[in-house]
Amino acid sequence: MPSPSRIHILEPHVAERIAAGEVVERPAAVVKELIENALDANASAISVEIEHGGLAMIRVSDDGTGIRREEAPIAFRRFATSKITTVEDLERVRTLGFRGEALAAIAAVSQVTMVTRTHEELEGTRIVASDGQVTTEPAASPVGCSVTVTNLYHNAPPRRKFLKSPLRESELCRNTVIRYALAFPHVAFRLRIDGRETLVAPQGTPLERLTVCLGREAADEMIPIRWEAADLRVWGFISRPTVGRSHRQSQYFYVNNRPIRAGLLTVALERAYERHLPPGRHPMAVIFIEVDPAYVDVNVHPTKAEVRFMHERSAYWAVSQAVTEALKPFPQARTDEFMRWPFDEIPAEMPSDTSHTNLREVGVGYHAGSPMRAIGQLHNSYILAQSPEGLVIIDPHAAHEAILFERLLRGEPREEISPAFRLPITQREAETLSKYLDVLANLGIEIEPFGKGTLVVRALPKSLSHVPLANLAAALVEEISSRSWSDTGSLQEALAARAACTAAIKAGDLLSLDQMQKLIDDLATYWSPAVCPHGRPAFITLSMEELERRFLR
Ligand code: ADP
Ligand code: MG
Repeated sequence: MPSPSRIHILEPHVAERIAAGEVVERPAAVVKELIENALDANASAISVEIEHGGLAMIRVSDDGTGIRREEAPIAFRRFATSKITTVEDLERVRTLGFRGEALAAIAAVSQVTMVTRTHEELEGTRIVASDGQVTTEPAASPVGCSVTVTNLYHNAPPRRKFLKSPLRESELCRNTVIRYALAFPHVAFRLRIDGRETLVAPQGTPLERLTVCLGREAADEMIPIRWEAADLRVWGFISRPTVGRSHRQSQYFYVNNRPIRAGLLTVALERAYERHLPPGRHPMAVIFIEVDPAYVDVNVHPTKAEVRFMHERSAYWAVSQAVTEALKPFPQARTDEFMRWPFDEIPAEMPSDTSHTNLREVGVGYHAGSPMRAIGQLHNSYILAQSPEGLVIIDPHAAHEAILFERLLRGEPREEISPAFRLPITQREAETLSKYLDVLANLGIEIEPFGKGTLVVRALPKSLSHVPLANLAAALVEEISSRSWSDTGSLQEALAARAACTAAIKAGDLLSLDQMQKLIDDLATYWSPAVCPHGRPAFITLSMEELERRFLR
């Protein structure tokens, strides 16, 4: 038997490198931390320079308070901060930083030169931090602080390997600058990438800032939102439902001006657009939530990219109210109108990267579009999934049925059946079906007479293409014969429900994790009422509160 390895405390430089990995996972994270520091120092102008994707150089200069010479070296130590002192302070953090980690983390994986001066000092200070050494010397400096980071990840080759191309990393840095610029319109921002000025945002109003950051065309499509309760305020801008993007990269959420990834809030936003935008299209949004800092825990994520709301549902509710209210003047589309949308032109929802701007990384690990993550299947039947609220238990048959039902009604690509397939049904059944060929055609089921008492299937919607045709035909005949139909609308829905039921996964079907996740993502896209067309619920949620209560915690 091999003996266990000895347990020992890591050398500080190893521990620091590990901690640094979390805080500064890529150049854009360095940019984020330095901008946060500048904003916390009350800067009124911030300039950012990036070279070669940030690997050659990142410089963030501000005209904020600066750091006193005697305090400068301490700033580079881990847990060195001027922003909080006590544990209680954590509950009322108003600054963007508070952990005292960033400068130490950045210095652990690069060479940092800081030039700074406070307004009380006559002479500034240059601090160079590299390989655990910090040196300080007098230097000329305007009031404020300028931090230059070079040789990023020179001592962390594995980290370099995980980076994207310099072009892509620059783009991520740019997104980061925009993310903060949108929230601080009273602070001027400049961004230079490889010597080229790519953003010049003078101090201005929120709307002016929106125009500079997202472009005039996008800004022209935005409408304001506002919703206020006693202790919660939501405001910002969302896009008119006449425009929809194929990605979610133009959705920005902030809590008390802190940019956050917000799976649940994205759901609140997009649900309000449900009858406005066709599936696969996403609104643009810049949404600010203001709430008493005591009601949000900002200390739950290594890069502070997520926050936890004490009353998560209120935040969800407030966003959905604000958006719904603003969309009221716009007519809703009927489900069948979505049929006219050119589906083939909608690119698959596949963000090219897992940067902090998209949903895939949000908290519970979404992979494209839903705030839920499949974790397993119970007795080959119920799917268990993690959601921001807690545990979701999904009935796969009911869920799949609901998805197929919506897809059939909304219209979807058809598959030709070639050669046309003769339906194995009796003459009587053929007569029954024949009366409703137009209703079936509306659902994408193209059936034609072929000689006396014979019907052939020429095309089927994609969702039904795997169903044995005899079963499908029998189910449709049975549905039609079940009662007399006065209006074609309800017959069409009944046939869609019946066809969906026939094609849906059955209880007992073993699913792979990927299949489960696909089902969950589709459910988030297509589901509107929480029921399958037969009125049974498609899923139930056990909230964390409920679980905690039942475990007597
Ligand atoms: P944190 O922001 O969590 O406090 P940092 O490591 O980012 O930790 O910074 C450490 C300290 O250095 C800050 O608390 C602040 O006092 C000081 N500091 C950092 N950057 C600046 C800056 N641009 N201007 C003024 N002070 C700064
Ligand atoms: Mg900081």
